[in-house]
Amino acid sequence: MKLTIVIPCFNEEKMIFETNSQLQNIIYDLVKENKISDKSGLLFVDDGSVDNTWNNIQEIKSNYENVKCLKLAKNAGHQNALLAGLLTAKLDNDIVISIDADLQDDIAVIPKMVEKHSNGFEIVYGVRQARDFDSVFKKQTALFFYKLMNFLGAQTIYNHADYRLMSKRSLDEFSKFEESNLFLRGLVPLLGFSTTTVYYQRKARFAGETKYPFIKMLNFALDGITSMSIKPLRLIFLSGITILVISFFMLFYILFSYFTGKTVAGWSSLILSIWFLGSIILIAIGVLGEYIGKIYTETKKRPRYIIEEYS
Ligand code: UDP
Ligand code: MG
Repeated sequence: MKLTIVIPCFNEEKMIFETNSQLQNIIYDLVKENKISDKSGLLFVDDGSVDNTWNNIQEIKSNYENVKCLKLAKNAGHQNALLAGLLTAKLDNDIVISIDADLQDDIAVIPKMVEKHSNGFEIVYGVRQARDFDSVFKKQTALFFYKLMNFLGAQTIYNHADYRLMSKRSLDEFSKFEESNLFLRGLVPLLGFSTTTVYYQRKARFAGETKYPFIKMLNFALDGITSMSIKPLRLIFLSGITILVISFFMLFYILFSYFTGKTVAGWSSLILSIWFLGSIILIAIGVLGEYIGKIYTETKKRPRYIIEEYS
């Protein structure tokens, strides 16, 4: 069973030597225990770095036979870089594990992932149990985005980032998702297949800085929501209905005020029109949204079903 570990790298010149040597140890042990083939190795994806990352990767490659590298023409973003790596690695591997270059995700659970796969699981999610080493701000904002995204219909595995094992078979099916707004951790669960999780503690970044400051995290969450779900459009529609209902109560209140003479001239009709028109406008936008949402999901051309067995 041939394993490749895919590592997207963006300006990680400080990290990758250490990343390489630690991952090489894991692979060495797994090969020794006959868990994976001795052809197993690493695939570094350079996501258009502007520092020495590419040169360093080349240097590593010249020292290790089992290292491959992929360079993207320009910075395509973490998700696209990861996809490039996964789809390249799937061509000649049985299993592929994706992990960030900063080793915040505990590589000690890689053997467990491989074992779970040999027990028949096609996808194994790495899930962090605690984020003790992330700043309180990062922790809280990340938690907020998880909750927001799940609420708005982009279902993700809680506390799972992009640290996971995927079999060739699941990657073959995955390659049929043709959408360009990639949100891998929302898409992979759509595959189905038998999946499981392994747990680990998230560590501090070994070197370098996070490439996901708050604004990027916010964009990531918004992309996640809008590429996974049309629930926000439906919420507009529902808020229109809600305000319409409130309008009827307002009608009684306004009429009551009018007849008890507590109003200035013109107030009743003005307030009433605002409430009613507001709700009608929101409903209209919501209805449009429903249709646009349908068109939107259609244009993605996602597979409508996935065949797990054929005989
Ligand atoms: N990364 C990438 N392209 C980018 C941004 C990040 O390939 O445009 C890589 C980065 O090198 C790292 C991984 O994606 O290996 C995750 O980034 P980071 O650790 O900065 O994110 P965080 O863990 O802070 O959320
Ligand atoms: Mg990180």
